[in-house]
Amino acid sequence: MLLTAFRGPRGKATSLSFTHVSSGLVLDALAELARRTGAVIMPHECPVLLQREHDRRHLPDDDMRAPAIVVPPADWSGRAIEQVVSPLPEPPQRPVLPRFAYHSLVGVVVPTDEPCVCCGQVRGWVYTGPVFGAEAPGAGICPYCIAFGKAAARYGATFNDVIDGDVPDEVAREILERTPGIPSWQSPRWLTHCGDAAEYLKALDADGQPTSYQFRCRVCGTSLAYSDFT
Ligand SMILES: [Zn+2]
Ligand SMILES: [Zn+2]
Repeated sequence: MLLTAFRGPRGKATSLSFTHVSSGLVLDALAELARRTGAVIMPHECPVLLQREHDRRHLPDDDMRAPAIVVPPADWSGRAIEQVVSPLPEPPQRPVLPRFAYHSLVGVVVPTDEPCVCCGQVRGWVYTGPVFGAEAPGAGICPYCIAFGKAAARYGATFNDVIDGDVPDEVAREILERTPGIPSWQSPRWLTHCGDAAEYLKALDADGQPTSYQFRCRVCGTSLAYSDFT
């Protein structure tokens, strides 16, 4: 810590400047000193800390007056100073979701701050749809581990079960092992059209009606759907 005293007229010290102050005990001592002397604290490029609203008008200019924060003397502490000088960082932006050729991701991912059970990374998202496979964890897999085939390779997991129609083996493997499942009440079915698997869009869920699972053909654009009951 560096303490600088600026001398005023007749050798009277009128200003004190502390620089390179570490947090913890030093800040507590500084807060105590300011509290006892009725001083204001002016952290560099941060709002000024006041002990009384009355002190606001003594600040040199409006740019300082407006954002100044009044902290009652009883609450002055190193922590109070720290909260102004080092506010909590902004919450992290969630990473972008992986894109799936055959699934919109509607209804099968939610935000999370927990690490993925499969890759151990904090990916910002967790998959909430169906998982098949005796060794596979039923929850906690991130969508990246589905997209990259990591969950399929590690646990023998699949996320879909029945493909309704004939598609090339490579497409079938992509749907079963590397595409999220359908959040359905009954055994889900993957619809196909024009010799390709269709793209799953969403589940339409009207009260008292069967849920309708909506797909679209990736080749001709035809809308496809099937329904089930709760
Ligand atoms: Zn993962
Ligand atoms: Zn088609």
